[in-house]
Amino acid sequence: MKALRLLIAVEQARDKEEQRQHERQFGVSLGMDAEPEDSIDEPRGTSDEPDPGSFTHRFVLDVRAHPPLPRPTVHYTEDSALFALRREILSQRTFSIVKPDAVRKGHTGAILAQIEKAGFKIVSIKRMSISKAQAEGFYYVHAARPFFRELTEFMSSGPIFPMVLEKDNAIADLRKLMGATNPAQAEEGTIRKKFAASIGENAIHGSDAEETAAFEIGYFFAGIELK
Ligand code: GDP
Repeated sequence: MKALRLLIAVEQARDKEEQRQHERQFGVSLGMDAEPEDSIDEPRGTSDEPDPGSFTHRFVLDVRAHPPLPRPTVHYTEDSALFALRREILSQRTFSIVKPDAVRKGHTGAILAQIEKAGFKIVSIKRMSISKAQAEGFYYVHAARPFFRELTEFMSSGPIFPMVLEKDNAIADLRKLMGATNPAQAEEGTIRKKFAASIGENAIHGSDAEETAAFEIGYFFAGIELK
């Protein structure tokens, strides 16, 4: 009980000192002083004031004389702060799929190597097959297009490798690395130029905007799979 009273007294002295500091600095009260001055020092429901000269009393006086330093709210080491900054400001995530045609032809390894060589980190990847209905959900924005049926049948025709990639400017850089939708128009050296056979069977998918990337990542991956 005595320890509790000591704790309450110390906390109250600190709070009060913080209020005073705040008022001195900003000229505005924190609004915690609504109670009369006297009642703040005194634990509610008791009239116990530390005995003058006692350890408790000296402790409270000491806290008042040496107010606590401002308490930092976030504790970062230099490395973790830089890491957080990099993640938040420089890095971007995008979503990609090695499509069924490329998997069937055994191009998965070469495509992943090209992606890594271009500086992307593979945050998460898995091998899976999807149903036609799942492909329709993924490509819902193309539902009205004449190739929708062909596209969704193709995407559900065999295993794929969906993945989440990270680097600065990931979305635009992956689109560049992929090349044009139609491989006949894709630039030399791009993934579609090297590995795609036609506009329909074009080896790789990549998100085209931040909102699309967010939707597509969430369509294939749970948060726990994305470190
Ligand atoms: P992407 O962003 O470059 O993949 O191209 P789009 O978003 O315009 O189209 C999505 C996917 O639909 C393409 O990657 C192709 O697989 C497919 N697609 C687009 N146009 C055609 C087309 O004219 N015919 C067929 N069969 N498929 C197409």
